[in-house]
Amino acid sequence: MQKTPLIVQSEAYLEGAKRGVRYLEQLSDRQVQPELSRLQQLDRSLPEAGLPLQNILDTMAGIGGEGTVASAAGRYFGYVIGGALPAASAARSLLSAWDQIADSLTGPSVVQMEETAISWIVELLGLPEGTNGAFTSGATMANMALIVTARDVLLSRQGHERGAGLIGAPRLRIVAGREIHATVLKSLRMAGLGTQDIEWVDVDDQGQMKLDEVPELDERTLVLAQAGNVCTGAFDPFEGLAEKCRAANAWLHVDGAFGLWAKVSEEAGFKLKKLDGADSWVVDSHKTLNTPYDSGLALCRHPEDMQASMAIGASYLPAADPNPADRAPEFSRSARGAETWAALLSLGRAGVVEMVDRFHGHAKRIAGDLSALGFTVPHDVHFNQVFVTLPKNEDACARITEHVQNSGEAWFGPATWQGKTGFRISVSNWATNDEDIDRLIAAIAKAKAEIVG
Ligand SMILES: *Cc1c(COP(=O)(O)O)cnc(C)c1O
Repeated sequence: MQKTPLIVQSEAYLEGAKRGVRYLEQLSDRQVQPELSRLQQLDRSLPEAGLPLQNILDTMAGIGGEGTVASAAGRYFGYVIGGALPAASAARSLLSAWDQIADSLTGPSVVQMEETAISWIVELLGLPEGTNGAFTSGATMANMALIVTARDVLLSRQGHERGAGLIGAPRLRIVAGREIHATVLKSLRMAGLGTQDIEWVDVDDQGQMKLDEVPELDERTLVLAQAGNVCTGAFDPFEGLAEKCRAANAWLHVDGAFGLWAKVSEEAGFKLKKLDGADSWVVDSHKTLNTPYDSGLALCRHPEDMQASMAIGASYLPAADPNPADRAPEFSRSARGAETWAALLSLGRAGVVEMVDRFHGHAKRIAGDLSALGFTVPHDVHFNQVFVTLPKNEDACARITEHVQNSGEAWFGPATWQGKTGFRISVSNWATNDEDIDRLIAAIAKAKAEIVG
């Protein structure tokens, strides 16, 4: 008997999941670096006739699997990647069967999950009542959506009609900390504002904006601040910034891609107490919260302004019952927020706090253990990021980094910060446990012994 299309699909779904299970089962034993020797075999000509599913999946799981970076393992400490919580992965898998678009007509239940997830996050982070926003592909797009919103608000204060375009528009001012993330600069360019006229504010020896060097602000100024410096984890001085911005009616935007989550922690979040004084915030689900890629969130204190800038209808009037597409940059969009909903339900409030505290605790331990080994960590451990160097032997840092990468035991990358060369460790994976940290420290100790003695 001929199988129906849905039976074919459900069998295929299971085959994919089975290979995912096998992949996860071998992850704690394999090297963290990808094995690339067979990569070329994936680059073949398109066959005239389609291949059987088993054949495709075997190639994908085999050559594709070995060519993955084992970032899902607890021994990956590069960039700020995160892993995928079990509930979030399972939700991803179910979503792939559903194939919903996050829109109230074509995916009503996933839109409800997204809206609920947003309200939980607003509450968890202590943001002002009425704050709302949209899930995006990540912090880059979330920053862009909010910079566009801020741009339109600041321009309309100058009498420039929303939607009138930037040609001939009044000038705006942009104030940003020297160590703002490179993607914020990209977002500024995408928003048509460019970066050549930024009024840069110097940072201190932690990478935090110096409050007393912030220029005089006014109501055509966009201030770009950061919660979570990628090298040190440090936070800009929000309390003072919010006060200055409010007094001048400037727009305060906070890029908190990974660092905004620190707010839930008693210890790591104390500098974020006045986070609610900003106008807009960006936070990723796919980093610290550990949902699968890709998922970020744009949050705005003035959601009606976000809608006026992002709405699908070009009337520039807020829709009475907005769809996610009226706030997000995209029209058709996957229901990525449903994974955040599942992740948050699986952790509960206490679980989020515990995970964030665990990242912070591991980062502190790493800084302490590496200092004991003779390394220098030239900053306080604010959250989950640790920049490490050897002041009299900076060149050895790159060789130590490579040695650890090649050992397969752990992975982190080289970094340069405030003129110092070293390496950077990020603790952002829910799966990382004490034993993974032991293996990381042992691999670094071994590399250092072999390279510098
Ligand atoms: C990762 C990161 C970004 C960019 O986020 P994506 O989700 O990759 O687009 C922006 N800002 C900071 C501070 C980041 O760490």
